[in-house]
Amino acid sequence: MNSLKPLIKQLLFKARFYKLTSLQNRFYIIPYHMIVDKTNGFYPETSTRDFEKQIVHFAKNYKIISLNEIVERIKNKRSLRRCVAITFDDGFRDNYEIAYPILKKYNVPATIFLTTGYINSGTAPWFIKLRYIFMQTAKTHIHLSHNGAIISHPMHTKDEKFVASDRAMVHLKNCPDNDRLPLLDRLCEQLGVNEFNGLNNLMLTWDQIKEMAENGISFGTHTVSHPILSRTSLEMAEREIRESKRTIEEKIGKSVTSFAYPFGKKSQYSSALFPILLDFEFKCAVTTETEPNTHRVNLFELNRPVPWEFSLL
Ligand SMILES: [Zn+2]
Repeated sequence: MNSLKPLIKQLLFKARFYKLTSLQNRFYIIPYHMIVDKTNGFYPETSTRDFEKQIVHFAKNYKIISLNEIVERIKNKRSLRRCVAITFDDGFRDNYEIAYPILKKYNVPATIFLTTGYINSGTAPWFIKLRYIFMQTAKTHIHLSHNGAIISHPMHTKDEKFVASDRAMVHLKNCPDNDRLPLLDRLCEQLGVNEFNGLNNLMLTWDQIKEMAENGISFGTHTVSHPILSRTSLEMAEREIRESKRTIEEKIGKSVTSFAYPFGKKSQYSSALFPILLDFEFKCAVTTETEPNTHRVNLFELNRPVPWEFSLL
């Protein structure tokens, strides 16, 4: 029995050492969406104040590097200890008006993933439009049936409206692709919302993107129309990826090599997309899974924890 002791000790030491080194090599890619002075609680927002506080914290306690540099360091097995990269999804205009001046102030690189179909469009992605409809409606109840499912919920208060919009969001995410936009139209009709002025200036313009591209901000793609890629055909997914990459490259005159899966949870993309991304010469793809990354991560499945979930602050 005694002869086993040194072996167990050695194994325990190795396990502890392994845990320590893998902890040291953890790095973080942070996903932001909208940065706004006043949050409304319906959109994926971070307040300007919190955003600046978080950037200051990362700059002080971590090493903020670009997503490209993260990829290079992974490939060359260079240290990524306490490295952080900043990213934004979808391409909201506040990324230019609010986040960009803050990023410049602290000399911080960032990558913005554009949903190209909505840039310069005067409208917003379908999941933002859905939230908008619930924010604007004066109706106090929703009752919508589709494909055997019934969404029925009171909407007397802002909180109830938010919960109802969540239920509609889950249903629209899971419904067949072709049903989604007609269903959104039915929602507008039932909830009596027929003006969308609040969405007119929500997304970036190509002029703003070009200016940022020349001043330290990188751009990646996030498809054309923000579908759920695990639910579309591979042909459709390939078209969404190819077209969005081509559009951005034409507009900014630089190659686009990073991709963000729309919505980004494991169930919302599939490994069948990896060869497509490789074919189009992407170097990496990011998810919204929240596990911290280590060197051993798959470059097409880089996770992005939100800061407050992982006590990075
Ligand atoms: Zn998105």
